[in-house]
Amino acid sequence: MIHFVGAGPGAEDLITVRGAKLLEQADVVVYAGSLVNPAHLARTKEGCAIYDSASMTLEQVMDVMIPAAKDGKNVVRLHTGDPSVYGAIREQMDILDANGVSYEVCPGVSSFCGAAAALKAEYTLPNVSQTVILSRMAGRTPVPERESIRALAAHGSTMVLFLSSGMLGKLSEELIAGGYAPETPAAIVYKATWPDEKVFRTTIAGLEQTAKDNDIHKTALITVGGFLGDVYDRSKLYDPAFAHGYREANP
Ligand code: SAH
Repeated sequence: MIHFVGAGPGAEDLITVRGAKLLEQADVVVYAGSLVNPAHLARTKEGCAIYDSASMTLEQVMDVMIPAAKDGKNVVRLHTGDPSVYGAIREQMDILDANGVSYEVCPGVSSFCGAAAALKAEYTLPNVSQTVILSRMAGRTPVPERESIRALAAHGSTMVLFLSSGMLGKLSEELIAGGYAPETPAAIVYKATWPDEKVFRTTIAGLEQTAKDNDIHKTALITVGGFLGDVYDRSKLYDPAFAHGYREANP
């Protein structure tokens, strides 16, 4: 059996209890060394074979995992954050299906949740935005034109941008071209939940300079939108005048 496990955003105690148990039981671990905190590997038992996928191809990863799984070993494929977000797990699962190897997925805390915690922010404020757009700038991996930053920015929703911290000048241009005001609040969260986490609050226009001033090039998320501001409505759920299935109205 192969378990795809989300390692969480960085802090070693932000892996799930299930993910930690799977690591403890693993005979083979293939971890995404570019972003997974190596401290997680301390949970593995003696003799566990450990591979860093940062320098491996998809084929090489499969050549490690498939024979091990067929040999009855417990295999963990450890991905950063949650594996469903830019995790490249679908292509692995398809090859496992083709080889008749079974697998499960154990979710993890995505870095976009880690970033909200670092910011002490709520992405979905009433009367500000009820939608979170997770996306990225097109890089060597293309993004469909209908999902360009410019097109998505037109919604004025909360946006969290992955894999884009090396292109902040262009990102700001696109956000503004899509309809955001240049002074819209924005934040750069570097290594959310890691011991060296850093948070920089700025505006859309100020993103590139802020990153430059603080030497941020990678392992950062960009968050954008009115949720970083001070104006919002309080929730209906906890409004005394609002009745619902668990509470009567008390105007
Ligand atoms: N599956 C991961 C995302 C992998 S894509 C998740 O759920 O978080 C890699 C990108 O995620 C990085 O380029 C960076 O933009 C972001 N990222 C991952 N971990 C991060 C962290 N701790 N802090 C800030 N950004 C992070």
